[in-house]
Amino acid sequence: MQITTITARTALVRSKIPGVDYVINPYLGCGHGCRYCYAVFMRKYARHHRESPWGAFVEVKINLPEVLKAELHRKKRPGRALLASVCDPYQPVEARYRLTRQCLEILGEYGWGVDILTRSPLVCRDLDLLTAMPEVSVGLSMPTDDDRVRKILEPNAPPLGARVAALQRLKEAGLTPWVFIAPMLPLNPERLYELLKPYVSRVMLDPLNYRGQVRDIFHRQGWDYALTDAYAAQTRETLTRLFGNKAR
Ligand code: SF4
Repeated sequence: MQITTITARTALVRSKIPGVDYVINPYLGCGHGCRYCYAVFMRKYARHHRESPWGAFVEVKINLPEVLKAELHRKKRPGRALLASVCDPYQPVEARYRLTRQCLEILGEYGWGVDILTRSPLVCRDLDLLTAMPEVSVGLSMPTDDDRVRKILEPNAPPLGARVAALQRLKEAGLTPWVFIAPMLPLNPERLYELLKPYVSRVMLDPLNYRGQVRDIFHRQGWDYALTDAYAAQTRETLTRLFGNKAR
């Protein structure tokens, strides 16, 4: 993994995501290296790693907390921010650099609402902060129930069992975690439902959008069926039936 520190000029980026005013991305690049990642386009904005494969580099915005604090200081009223939109805020480098944690501390200080979306149980490290924030929502991505699929398509992301254990910890701490089943990879809907149902307040479903990026991998694995619109529709229908009014 190539890790470089850089300085950021801005922290808050205006968002069109419903319910979110701004996004904050403490890292450029993502060590999870998901093969289907929608954020691969961010590589063109890298300062030092434009030629490196996605997942092989991370640029650490080392001054982001200071920049964020200055920006929040200038805002007239609190808003709501998502960590993160084009990287995982709890990817492995976060254990060392703690930028997400520092941003949470500052957002909490200024009374901002926070949405978190991650694949990592490292989010539980920050339970002390998260449980003290009145306006917080924590989502874990769980696009399959099958760790064999996870190993092939999310080679450096935490195992699914660790994500379920994180959901349990979040719930036991008094939060109401939700799960992003996205993109819907090859999965067994009934098994995924059984894994998640004790812990989640809602699930959001999304199909695989960048199919060309993974077509060869899916073909080699015999998963061509999972690249079709019919698979996406059928999986959505089954998960919606299972989760009932918790599914969106
Ligand atoms: S965790 Fe998210 S941002 Fe990171 S590689 Fe996977 S899909 Fe991309």
